[in-house]
Amino acid sequence: MVEAPIAAAGRHSSDSEFRPGPILLLGAPGVGKGTQAKKLMEAWKIPQISTGDLLRSHVEMGSHLGREAKAIMDRGELVPDDLVNQMVAQRLSEPDTAAGYMLDGFPRTLGQANWLDSYLAARPGTLAVIAVSIQVGYNQLLRRITGRRVCPVCSTIYNIYLQPPRVDEVCDRDGTKLVRRSDDTEKVFEERMRAYQSLTAPVIEHYRSLGRFAEVNGEQAVEAVTSGIMAAIAKLRG
Ligand code: AMP
Repeated sequence: MVEAPIAAAGRHSSDSEFRPGPILLLGAPGVGKGTQAKKLMEAWKIPQISTGDLLRSHVEMGSHLGREAKAIMDRGELVPDDLVNQMVAQRLSEPDTAAGYMLDGFPRTLGQANWLDSYLAARPGTLAVIAVSIQVGYNQLLRRITGRRVCPVCSTIYNIYLQPPRVDEVCDRDGTKLVRRSDDTEKVFEERMRAYQSLTAPVIEHYRSLGRFAEVNGEQAVEAVTSGIMAAIAKLRG
């Protein structure tokens, strides 16, 4: 049964006093940060802030930032810190972040982590940030990335190998034709993994050394991973 562990973790952490505060979901590309963030968002009614999604919407809008970011993203490299930090600052100033939020895909460099630490330190009353890293092995990640399809209308994420839609390449919820992200190819995945190893792995060490960090096994059923994350967050806030 998948419901029970989630409900149990939720009970522990969902009484009226519980404020999740700022939560970072960390992990390599394809570990399931987006899927998990959506689950936690539903459970705790706090927003998911995905820098990848924000950047993709800038690319679609054709904004100045979007034009600068597109080529970098298509190569699987990281967009410069100052552009991403500014975008995050703007999003965090919105009122729906008051009880907490989940940052998905940020911080991705030590520079971004240091920026976030100072940004939060300058806001008294904000809970300390806590980080949860989702762990998945390389081969599994490759299957997840190359099989990933997304509904462009409702953002539901599928995987043609692991979690296919009922009808081939069509969203179960609204019947829209699914799309593949332009950076979800094997070649770009390898580059994204390189960027992850060299730039993002140190971010994990940063939060680990601060003692505000937990690791969750991401090679389990989606619901079991959600339970693990909720339990880890409840413990870190406990
Ligand atoms: P994601 O959807 O999180 O996998 O991000 C897709 C792409 O957006 C990445 O490969 C980067 O090019 C860019 N991106 C997303 N978040 C960041 C970030 N925090 N810093 C720099 N680039 C980012």
